Amino acid sequence: MHSTPVSHDYKAMLVKVLPALADNYMYLLIDKQSREAAVVDPVDPKAALRAAEAANVTITTILTTHHHWDHAGGNAELAKKLKKSNLKVIGGDDRIPAMTRKVSHNDELFVGSLSVKCLHTPCHTTGHICYYVTSPEAEHPVVFTGDTLFIAGCGRFFEGTAEQMDTALNKRLGELPGDTRVYCGHEYTRRNL
Ligand code: ZN
Ligand code: FE
Repeated sequence: MHSTPVSHDYKAMLVKVLPALADNYMYLLIDKQSREAAVVDPVDPKAALRAAEAANVTITTILTTHHHWDHAGGNAELAKKLKKSNLKVIGGDDRIPAMTRKVSHNDELFVGSLSVKCLHTPCHTTGHICYYVTSPEAEHPVVFTGDTLFIAGCGRFFEGTAEQMDTALNKRLGELPGDTRVYCGHEYTRRNL
C-alpha cells in the first residue's frame, strides 16, 4: 500500500503523499537542493522512514499539526529510530510527544532552504498549527492543514468555537495565495461531498 507514494514535484520542492491508518495522510516534504526533508504527522514511523530512504533524503524535522494520536502518535518512535540529537520536532501544543520546539503564530523555520511558516488555527484543538511552505524557486507554495481544513470540509470543533474556525479558514488560510497547494490530514473527500 505504501510502496509507491504519490509525488508532487514543485521544482525546488517535492511533496510525497503517504497514506496511513484508515484515512490519515502523512507527508514527506523535500528540499530538493539539500535533500533535507520534514515529515508531517508521522503516525506510521516505519512507513515514513521507508519513504525517506526510497527518496534518498535526510529527515531533519517533524512537523506536527496537533496532538491527537492519529497525527502525533508516531513522534516518539520516529525520533528514537532517527537517533539524531539535532532533530527538530515542531508543534504548537504541550501535549505533543517528543516536541523540541513549541511554535506560535507566524513563527518561521527552515527545512533546507524551504521556509516553513506556522499558522495558529485553534478550534479542532487549542494548539493546532498549519504549516505554510514557500521557496523562491518553488512552482507553488504549499500548506499542510491537518484537521483544520479538509477537501470540502473542516475539522470538528473539539476545543474551540465557530468564530475561531471561521478565522482559521477564512483569514489564516483564506489569505494565502490562490495558487497554494493544500495537503490535509485525512481523506474525507467523498464523505464531505
Ligand atoms: Zn484530530
Ligand atoms: Fe485526525
